[in-house]
Amino acid sequence: MPLAYLEGLGGLLAAGLFIFGLKRMSSPVTALSGIKAAGAGMLIAVASAFLVLTRLPQVAESRLPTNLALAVIALALGGGWALWSGRKVAMTGMPQMVALYNGMGGGAAAAIAAAEIFRGAMPDTLLAGATLAGALIGSVSLTGSVIAWAKLDGKIDRPWRFAGQQYVNAAVFVAALVLGGATALASDGVQATMLAGAFFIVALAFGVLMTLPIGGADMPVVISLYNAFTGLAVALEGYALANPALMIAGMVVGSAGTLLTVLMAKAMNRSLTNVLFSNFGDVAVSTDSQIAGRIKSVEASDAATAMRYAASVIIVPGYGLAVAQAQQKLYEFVKQLQAAGVDVKFAMHPVAGRMPGHMNVLLAEAGVPYDIIFDMEDINDAFASTDVALVIGANDVVNPAARTDKSSPIYGMPILDVDRAHQVYVIKRGQGKGYAGVENLLFYADNCNMVYGDAQAVLTQMVQSVKELAPA
Ligand code: NDP
Repeated sequence: MPLAYLEGLGGLLAAGLFIFGLKRMSSPVTALSGIKAAGAGMLIAVASAFLVLTRLPQVAESRLPTNLALAVIALALGGGWALWSGRKVAMTGMPQMVALYNGMGGGAAAAIAAAEIFRGAMPDTLLAGATLAGALIGSVSLTGSVIAWAKLDGKIDRPWRFAGQQYVNAAVFVAALVLGGATALASDGVQATMLAGAFFIVALAFGVLMTLPIGGADMPVVISLYNAFTGLAVALEGYALANPALMIAGMVVGSAGTLLTVLMAKAMNRSLTNVLFSNFGDVAVSTDSQIAGRIKSVEASDAATAMRYAASVIIVPGYGLAVAQAQQKLYEFVKQLQAAGVDVKFAMHPVAGRMPGHMNVLLAEAGVPYDIIFDMEDINDAFASTDVALVIGANDVVNPAARTDKSSPIYGMPILDVDRAHQVYVIKRGQGKGYAGVENLLFYADNCNMVYGDAQAVLTQMVQSVKELAPA
């Protein structure tokens, strides 16, 4: 079979596996097999890229062994690093890792474009347009993702803003467009190379400038947006290289990233413009006018006893659970309650934690069965008839101010209605605010008690307390 057919077949197979894999990722029960299918698709795509390498007209036969060896070394280095870093990453470090991997994808697309531009391979306007657009988007995704990583990791701890910043950013963006256009139109090689160099510098700078003013609280949405950018850049470079696997993979990533960005913004009741251009979460906002009542606290043993003798308990996990790495202890507690005949369910807010699905992964790691985990819209009505709601390291996603306080930055954000349960216990370390930096009205409610302490330590005490109670 001619090589071109094999490549085409490889691309088709890879595309089929990507789509099949994505479909299976939509349920936690089938997600693992979905990831494996998509991974197999990626292997096939990489293998067919090697076939492309062997027949590129611009690669002289004598250079082929060197090029293949370089590609294998690059794969081994990249693959080895990904394997090592993926294994050792902590649950709280997932969003940072996603940001970095994502940036690499954008960078790879920009690097393909650079190789094509610098060797003067832009025979027609359409190809030149696709290559340069991919170069711009990929460069922005690379440097923007690196800044997002630095912000999430606490390496950059404050937004960088100055008067007229949006005009400066717009001017840099226009400069990138002009330089890109000039590169495409340049008639001689030296001129084109210099223009392309300037174009890349400005495009990379734009990614930095665009991301620096955005607050840390919005970084997960920004990462998702750059994920969509990376997909688009890869698809455009796939078109430039006439590589179907790249085109399809890029389009799948681009559309999945766009959908995820929209879903995240919707789950926080924010527009994308608001995410990109507002100062959300930087300034602590007071909801004093709404605060009534006082914060009360109880011992872990009291909370454990109340739950042990309750008929139904709904648990709401949040970012603090990941910080405390208390998922195993939590599941031990859940099993104790179940053994005592308590009906235990988990309620999942779409943006609990620091990225979509963060809490699902955390609970899956501890072995919590999927059939007791419910999405917000499926469980919200059940709180009113539930004995106890237990909130662990969650804050914004259970703040009733989102329903009642029009001046709150989280007003309109869909929340889990834990305040409607008969009794609420909240495990957190102290008076610290949530990601959005606002007071939580739940903590002042009559039916709410705080259990102060690190989630791991509190849950350990709760497990011990239930053990000491008489068996059911
Ligand atoms: P929050 O960040 O609102 O609250 C987490 C709480 O956990 C804090 O109040 C903190 O209080 C507590 N905590 C931290 N460490 C521990 C610990 N070791 N033990 C016990 N408690 C601890 O988290 P939520 O999950 O409720 O909300 C997610 C937030 O992130 C929302 O504002 C959401 O909009 C935002 N976000 C989420 C995205 C996503 O996709 N998931 C995307 C973008 C933003 P204390 O310091 O007192 O312990």
